[in-house]
Amino acid sequence: MLDFTLSPQHQQLQQLYRSFAQGRVKPLAREMDEREEFDMALLQEMKEHGFFSIPFEKRYGGAGADVLSYALCIEEMSKVDASTGLTISVHTSLCASAINEFGTEEQKQLWLRPLANGSKIGCFGLTEPNAGSDVAGARTTAEKDGEHYVINGEKIFTTNSAFADTFLVFALTDQSLPASKGMSAFLVDRSTPGVTVSPDIPRMGIRAASNAAVTYQDVRVPAANLLGGIAGTGFKIAMKTLDGGRIGIAAQAVGIAQGTIDEAVRYVKERVQFGRPIAAFQNTQFKLAEMQTMVDAARLMTYRAAVAKDQGQNYSTYAAMAKLLASDVANQVTRGCVQLLGGYGYAREYAVERMMRDAKITEIYEGTSEVMKMVISSSMRLK
Ligand SMILES: Cc1cc2nc3c(=O)[nH]c(=O)nc-3n(C[C@H](O)[C@H](O)[C@H](O)COP(=O)(O)OP(=O)(O)OC[C@H]3O[C@@H](n4cnc5c(N)ncnc54)[C@H](O)[C@@H]3O)c2cc1C
Repeated sequence: MLDFTLSPQHQQLQQLYRSFAQGRVKPLAREMDEREEFDMALLQEMKEHGFFSIPFEKRYGGAGADVLSYALCIEEMSKVDASTGLTISVHTSLCASAINEFGTEEQKQLWLRPLANGSKIGCFGLTEPNAGSDVAGARTTAEKDGEHYVINGEKIFTTNSAFADTFLVFALTDQSLPASKGMSAFLVDRSTPGVTVSPDIPRMGIRAASNAAVTYQDVRVPAANLLGGIAGTGFKIAMKTLDGGRIGIAAQAVGIAQGTIDEAVRYVKERVQFGRPIAAFQNTQFKLAEMQTMVDAARLMTYRAAVAKDQGQNYSTYAAMAKLLASDVANQVTRGCVQLLGGYGYAREYAVERMMRDAKITEIYEGTSEVMKMVISSSMRLK
């Protein structure tokens, strides 16, 4: 059966996320962007509301909801502030979900529980200055020393790192093997000596989110911090985790696009030119109709990927397709909405300006659009 309606529970959650986003996040969005800093009181409030807990089982302190609910949350937050969507998304899909899916039972009790109950925030350190799309080019190492590993290297663009407590970091445990077999994933507490978080990297968009380089210098962690307990599984963990993460980024892109349309619809009804609201011009109506159609298509693909993950199906191609389409739509739609607002769309006073800057990153992180095409085409068995 194919059913395109959200269940009553999902509708209820969507309403809850929407009312928090509109009431609490929206009023802060512009100021956070201008300050280039996330509001820590808002972060605390979000923890208390369970926004960092959504798809995790109650036995680990989570809310016991599903990936679709999580996608709805990211969409609603990103409608008003993409940085808020990203902050929840990196914690949930890239850090806590990796522990949920690959951690041992002890690791879930020790590391997942505080992330799933929102008392701690997580981040994900994979990208390095010389290893982005080509993850296998990573140079960070973790050398075994008795019952410990010693991590050395530099990660860049680690989202949430200014305030995260738990760092999931990828390092080579066997440099004689290709990264696909020689890389491992480690759980590192922020307070571990040798972990240094640099100041945030100044950016075009999602400026309220934290994003920085993190260095690991002789960071000594117990062997028990090796995620899943098996060395050499890091590459697989990274790839599978990013597959799931792309559902969140697709939802973020859908949210940015819908939020921008919502702003534009309000504006065109009020703005009068040539004696009529600009909403009366067919160009305005057709442009909005085209954009809303694109957003709905991207939303359906995003929900399909989320539901496939919830149902235990293979979702990686669906997630890549959803991210590829939704990120393109977010960029086209935000540009189109700035155009509909004319000069005011270009002014920082209007949210569409920020949303256009925020949209760009959805085509880059958690795999660029080119990488998405590699993932999709590889599933088509062309070779
Ligand atoms: C704001 C922000 C937040 C981020 N958050 C995180 C995070 O939390 N954790 C983390 O680990 N990383 C994070 N990243 C890193 C992000 O995932 C990488 O920037 C991204 O994967 C691209 O890598 P790169 O920047 O090194 O670009 P490159 O890999 O150098 O790519 C440059 C260009 O070359 C293209 N290209 C590369 N290889 C190919 C190929 N084989 N065929 C065709 N085209 C190709 C790319 O598509 C791109 O257009 C973040 C980045 C930003 C900017």
